[in-house]
Amino acid sequence: GTVTELDAVLVGCRACPRLVAWREQVATVKRSAFREWDYWAKPVPGFGPVDATLAIVGLAPAAHGGNRTGRIFTGDPSGDVLYAALHAVGLASQPTATHRGDGLALRGVRITVPVHCAPPDNRPTTIERDTCRPWLARELALLRPTLRVVVVLGGFGWQAALPVLAAGGWSLPRPRPAFGHGVHVRVTDPRTGRDLHLLGCYHPSRRNISTRTLTIPMLHDVLRRAAHLARQ
Ligand code: SF4
Repeated sequence: GTVTELDAVLVGCRACPRLVAWREQVATVKRSAFREWDYWAKPVPGFGPVDATLAIVGLAPAAHGGNRTGRIFTGDPSGDVLYAALHAVGLASQPTATHRGDGLALRGVRITVPVHCAPPDNRPTTIERDTCRPWLARELALLRPTLRVVVVLGGFGWQAALPVLAAGGWSLPRPRPAFGHGVHVRVTDPRTGRDLHLLGCYHPSRRNISTRTLTIPMLHDVLRRAAHLARQ
């Protein structure tokens, strides 16, 4: 299969009852600013070219962001920060992301999430994380021929991504490296002998930005390093 085929099947997934209920409930209640919107209310696939050298792994779609627009990180404060930063370092064609027809294109980057449906309070359960894991495993397997770097935004994504890489045959160091901002782990793909670079980055959540846990220069720095490693 291809990533496009994978995405087409993904959007029909209803494996997590709590998340199915939430994504649909949010679409009914809406938020007053988005009253005119016909919410997506389905699993939100990854976004970006299928021959990406760099993958960015987030957390889950925002209820009124990706769950509304149908494109990951699109139409919410985290996405505003992320896409502006990707544009600033030359990885996105424009600094803003508002809807699926806004013309935004990513350069060699595929953004995805370990949980594809919007969770209440942005907090998926560990069962939901594990239920969604095969989708991330399949997506990374399809990107594998070109993939050089994975940037993981936040500890949740890190906890989700490492087992996927281990199960996919990438040789991870033992003990498993802990998540941290700026953490750089080099894992080998025994099939190709090539390195895959894993970079940790704090999630650009509204909270992390407002508390300056993650500053814009910190985000630019990780993305620049990732872009540099992806070109090697
Ligand atoms: Fe399916 Fe993942 Fe959504 Fe659960 S979170 S319903 S596994 S797409």
